[in-house]
Amino acid sequence: MGDEVRLKIDGHDVSVPHGTSILEAAAKLGIKIPVVCYHPHLSANGVCRICAVDVGWRVQVAACVTTCSDGMEVRTNSDDVTRARRTNLEMLASTVNLEDAPDIQTLLEKYQADRTRFSAGQKREVPVFDDNPFFLRDYSQCINCWRCVQVCAEDAQYAFALTFNGRGFETTIGTFMGQGMTDTTCVFCGQCVGVCPTGALKPKRQSLLEMGKSPDEAMKLARPKNDRKRA
Ligand code: SF4
Repeated sequence: MGDEVRLKIDGHDVSVPHGTSILEAAAKLGIKIPVVCYHPHLSANGVCRICAVDVGWRVQVAACVTTCSDGMEVRTNSDDVTRARRTNLEMLASTVNLEDAPDIQTLLEKYQADRTRFSAGQKREVPVFDDNPFFLRDYSQCINCWRCVQVCAEDAQYAFALTFNGRGFETTIGTFMGQGMTDTTCVFCGQCVGVCPTGALKPKRQSLLEMGKSPDEAMKLARPKNDRKRA
């Protein structure tokens, strides 16, 4: 077996090293497959399925976690693939508040997703966690992409402050036993906020400015209560 595998993507021949994902092989050809949960500096998990492609199997596969094999024929833009992406986006829009997710908004437009198609579906409505001076956690805007959990764990920080809680539709990101962030192993590095593709994790000061507070007010209000007494 050689070091490379040869396959076709959208009719174009490409040769890539063993272990290369379809997403990476397509990029080599200049074919951009849309992603939501995928981040180039984090482990791919194939959670959102927006990068679904057709490889002739019974079901479409996530291009970010499926490796290329010899003779594979990949279609990244067939009608079925487009329909699947549109449906996934419509389900996401029915459940989660995506107002602060510009990249997903762009995809909703691109795939002509009907945001009201599943309007009778259950919404994720949870209170905002305001439990530390640095960032807010609004999981009504969370798409469970897993980026924050990974960057807090083996992919970067090794703090393991964030995890998944619940099962099925009730699955949310949270802390061990629901502890407030200051009681966890969080070191407030901010990397989770940096990789969040929605407004689910947001710097507290930014949030206060968006609410119309002045920079001085925002700085004061973002401080922990003990500090505010001293101010
Ligand atoms: S909080 Fe943000 S980064 Fe974490 S899973 Fe939700 S959307 Fe993804």
